[in-house]
Formats: sequence, structure tokens, C-alpha cells
Amino acid sequence: MGFYIYRHCQSLNSWVFKQVAFKIENNRKMTTSQHIKENLEFVRAKMIGASLKRVEEVIAYKTPRLVAVSKTKPVGDVIEAYHNGQRHFGENYIQELAEKSADPKILEKCPDICWHFIGHLQRNKVNKLISVKNLYMVETIDSVKLADAVNSSWMKLEKMEKLKIMVQVNTSGEENKSGVEPSEASQITKHIIENCPGLEMCGLMTIGAYDYDVSLGPNPDFLKLIECHGQISLTLGLQRESLELSMGMSSDYEHAIELGSTNVRIGSTIFGRRATKH
Ligand SMILES: *Cc1c(COP(=O)(O)O)cnc(C)c1O
Repeated sequence: MGFYIYRHCQSLNSWVFKQVAFKIENNRKMTTSQHIKENLEFVRAKMIGASLKRVEEVIAYKTPRLVAVSKTKPVGDVIEAYHNGQRHFGENYIQELAEKSADPKILEKCPDICWHFIGHLQRNKVNKLISVKNLYMVETIDSVKLADAVNSSWMKLEKMEKLKIMVQVNTSGEENKSGVEPSEASQITKHIIENCPGLEMCGLMTIGAYDYDVSLGPNPDFLKLIECHGQISLTLGLQRESLELSMGMSSDYEHAIELGSTNVRIGSTIFGRRATKH
């Protein structure tokens, strides 16, 4: 009997502990404007710390860019982050991006905002996407056909500058994740550079498996993206520094930066948890 009570108390203890830890963590992530400011400062400090711990091969890479992922969050949160110095924002639904980017308050208060599209892109939505005002980068090109479609739509706009894009790589091999196979990354990159004059090939992006335990060593999905990056640079004769690596989210951005990420996409740590998982 005593043993059972003892066991019970132990698990109760750890339950209480978890609740307290959850509370502390959650409070820090509340979405009031004060917390957005604090959370941005927190993330920026962590990013600098992680940059200082970079592995030797990538020390020369540029300082990573912070993309604040505002999906599901109101326009007021975007303005608040902008007001605190944030310029790059990410959205993963075309409709939501189209609405936010055209919002009169955003247009008025965030003139230099840089939108990143980080969601799955269907070819019939390409025109809608490229008409987004202040679109900075499309991180999720995942087929030659899609690259061609984005290229020809962009060329029709007859802009002076190219559209910045990244190729999304499915490093974790999960069916439900978009992205080209790692073995195809080099070929699609070559295609974009040679046949898509409207596009600027900026780098490789991956999501990777969720909840990887970093204590087991470097995330194999990140290592795979780095391997693709090296291979592409070699076969296409590009400077390694000229191709970016977009990897790392709330749960693993410090780890990703240490390995060489130049673009981290962070949502919940800045804006608080999302009501719906997407
Ligand atoms: C939602 C999302 C993120 C941000 O996720 P958090 O865990 O909230 O930081 C990053 N990248 C992509 C592609 C996303 O869809």
C-alpha cells in the first residue's frame, strides 16, 4: 500500500511540476502587446547567442534573418511587432496573406514590411500570390512546373527586380509534407537558374520532423538540407554563402542556427500559441 501511495505522490509531484512549468512558459508567451515586444527581444537575444555557437564551417554565413510567422494572428499583432523593429513576416495561407497584406492599417503603418510565403502553393493560386503587395520571398517552390508557373506570371508583371524564391525540400520523407526529394533538389535548382529569368534562386527551405529531441544529436533533417546545399553548390559551381538555408521554428531555431540556418521562421514563441494547429 505504502508503495502505491509513494508512486502516486511521485507522479502527482511531477504533474504539479509540469503545470507550474507550463504556466511560466505560457505566461511568457501571452499575446498582449507587451509580450510581443518582450518575446521579440527574447528571440533576438537567443539568435545572437546561437550565432556565436555556430559550427566552424558556417561561421562566415550571414547573420540569420528572423521571419515572424503571423498566421492566424490579427493585424494588430503584426503592427505591434513591426513597431518593435520586426520587418519580415511569414504566412502560409494565400487567402490570409492576401487579406493581411492589403489591410489598410498594415499599408499605412508598415510601409517596409517584407512578406514571406511559407505554405504549400497550388498552381491555380500563383497569380493571387504574386499580386501580394510587399511580397518579399516565396520559400516553398516544390516542383519544376510550379517554378515555371511562378516565373511566367512574374515576368508578365514586367517588374525590374526578380522574385526571390527558395526550393522546399522534404527532408523527413513524410508523405504529408511538401517539398522535393533531396535527390531532386539539385536538378530543380539548375532548372530555375537556367530557365526562370524572373526568379532569383535564394536558397533551400525545410520543415523537418516535429518534436525531434536535440539531445540525440544534430537534427538529421537539418543535416540533410545542409548536405543538399553542399551538393548543389558543388555541382552548380555556386558559392556556398550565396545559397541560404531556411530551417528552424519555435522549437528548434537555436539548434538550426548553430548548424548554419540563415532564415528562421518563428510563430508561437513571438505571438503566443495558435488556437488552431496549422
Ligand atoms: C507555422 C509555421 C512556422 C512557425 O511555427 P512555430 O512553431 O509557431 O514557430 C514555421 N514554418 C512554417 C512552414 C509554418 O507553417
